[in-house]
Amino acid sequence: MEIRHPHFFAAPDFWKTTREEVNAYLDGLQRGQGWEIGRSQGGHALRAVAYGKAEPLPRRTTYSSAIASGHPEDFYDRAKRQKPVLLIIGAIHAAEIEGVVTCLNFAQVMETGRDLRGREWPLLRELAEQLRVVLVPLPQPNGRLRSPVHNLIGGTVDDLYYYGQGLRNNGEILRWPECKRLQPIPIAEMEFLGGYYNDAGVNIQHDDFFGRPAPETRALLDLAAAEIPDCVMTLHSCGNGPFFIAPESYLSPACQFHQVQVAALVADRHRRDGLRPGGGTRTALQGGFYFHTALHHHTGTLPLLFEFPHGLEMKPFTFDEILDVGLDLFEEVMRYGVNCRYRPR
Ligand SMILES: [Zn+2]
Repeated sequence: MEIRHPHFFAAPDFWKTTREEVNAYLDGLQRGQGWEIGRSQGGHALRAVAYGKAEPLPRRTTYSSAIASGHPEDFYDRAKRQKPVLLIIGAIHAAEIEGVVTCLNFAQVMETGRDLRGREWPLLRELAEQLRVVLVPLPQPNGRLRSPVHNLIGGTVDDLYYYGQGLRNNGEILRWPECKRLQPIPIAEMEFLGGYYNDAGVNIQHDDFFGRPAPETRALLDLAAAEIPDCVMTLHSCGNGPFFIAPESYLSPACQFHQVQVAALVADRHRRDGLRPGGGTRTALQGGFYFHTALHHHTGTLPLLFEFPHGLEMKPFTFDEILDVGLDLFEEVMRYGVNCRYRPR
């Protein structure tokens, strides 16, 4: 791997993103309940942490069958759940580390009342106490080990694609969305495989969900089946963030309605706090079928995909601003869960 700029490999103390930093932080938790949900392609532990008591939902049918019978309560009985469950999945694209920083700072708020900068977030904690929040900060550790960049602030799009997708044997950077034409990426054709992929070259976001999913995907599908979350939020990053992709195709109108509402509320919060939401006003449905879409069809959950800003030179953000983007996001999404319970009826 190439060091394209030394400052990509330095960060303030509150900005914990490497596999070692994340594991050390999770090892020290007092209130959060941690467990291993599986192993990665490369054999590394996939770790989850939860705040709030689990309320397992007994069920005798699948989501698909319950919808078709006209009895969705056979799969998910609202009367049997007190607290909505929010599942937050960090960097499946392992160079997109801004969500990892936010997960750990949120955990610190739950542990101590303050984020890792020492700043209090009383409303965030109060809202989170009314939910069960399950975090998987680093669901794809192999990519993180291969591409251990700490940040991409001030970087170029080429820097982003280099650490994200990687470098081909012919010396060309593998770019987005060209990178999606091959799944998995043939590793032998890569000089450097970026953090986007697990050790077998699989992009979890477009895995073979109904066929033979990668170990990381399998573990997350099983976690979702165990939790039956009311909402799943996956955390990504790009040059134009912050924004949600919304509304998405391959979802019911009710799901799309919730997606648009959450996106508008979060964009308004970011605008009020001077955090420059991007992404524009979407007038056409987003056409992709993604990992979080698969989780919806697996469990009926409300699926959300958020894009953080990397703070590239095209749209600069500071470390502090990016963390504020993330904690504002968590607060607004949790407020929505407390007020609206997320799950489409
Ligand atoms: Zn991504």
